[in-house]
Amino acid sequence: MAEIRVLDKHTSELIAAGEVVERPASVAKELLENAIDAGATKITISIRRGGIELLQIVDNGTGIEAEYIDKAFIRHATSKIKTAEDLNSIHTLGFRGEALASIASVARVEVLTRTQADEYACLYRIAGGEEQGMEPGARPVGTTITVRDLFYNTPARMKFLKKDASEGTFVADVVLHTALSHPEISFRFEREGKLQFVTPGDGKLLSAVHAAVGRDFARDLLPVEGELGVYQVTGLVTPPRACRASRGAQYFYVNGRYVKNRTMMAAMENAYKGTLMQGKFPGGVLMLTMPAELVDVNVHPAKTEIRFAREGDVFDAVYRAVRNALTTPGSGECRFSMD
Ligand code: ADP
Ligand code: MG
Repeated sequence: MAEIRVLDKHTSELIAAGEVVERPASVAKELLENAIDAGATKITISIRRGGIELLQIVDNGTGIEAEYIDKAFIRHATSKIKTAEDLNSIHTLGFRGEALASIASVARVEVLTRTQADEYACLYRIAGGEEQGMEPGARPVGTTITVRDLFYNTPARMKFLKKDASEGTFVADVVLHTALSHPEISFRFEREGKLQFVTPGDGKLLSAVHAAVGRDFARDLLPVEGELGVYQVTGLVTPPRACRASRGAQYFYVNGRYVKNRTMMAAMENAYKGTLMQGKFPGGVLMLTMPAELVDVNVHPAKTEIRFAREGDVFDAVYRAVRNALTTPGSGECRFSMD
């Protein structure tokens, strides 16, 4: 019989990291969520070589106090919950305290951060899970996290990555999805040295769509607003005449989280029945707000698939809200205007 051994800390750390960090896009998602949790109103994200060589996030959030920086990189270290009871009332995107520890174990990470109470910023370095030291630095209140050479110490993971351009596109998707769900935050995205978009952060979904998806798409969108029982649906959808040849511009959110979901997609598309040409698809952004207990919570939060307890109700709520938007008299007049 084979001997059973407990894995050494380094190996088990790498395995745990693999659950959280699959590719540059997962790093982007975690770090963007941290910046949002820190109350940032301005977030810049830049990537080089698809985020593999460099992925940097600059935020103007609360910052991390110097004495807690090294703690932030310990697995299961979080400032967001204290007890098991807190698990029932989570109001932040993160709470597992796993992201920074995971990222730092498979990359070279630099954190430059300053809180309101600090006179100086603090620069902290960690690579492959090994602390590299801390020194004073300078920056306004907020945090800059720079992640370099992702998977430099895990060649097997590195091999599994796609071409730089594809990884960059996965990151771009994450930034776009995040920017659309937080119109109150100004997001700036730079890819391979080129500015991709800046959202104004004025709180309007239409402004975020206009900046991040594009002017043509935003021009004729119809507002969606509906309620059915415990379900609320808001958002923007394309008028039938502006529908497109692919499903590329359909964005669905449940309780603020970007999701991929067949029920919402089918409900939206059904609402256009009889108005669309063969082979055309509607686009839009739909935000579903509903009781958390009616969504399957046993799905990993890093994944975008979810399951509803009552699919039929979700279908009806989305279908009706979109149908309403399409048939409301005068809805064709909803044009985008910069004010
Ligand atoms: P979690 O988000 O689940 O708490 P993370 O590993 O992502 O775990 O982060 C650990 C801790 O580091 C957070 O709880 C938070 O206190 C701090 N932190 C991380 N990123 C930032 C940031 N951009 N601004 C302020 N604090 C941060
Ligand atoms: Mg986090």
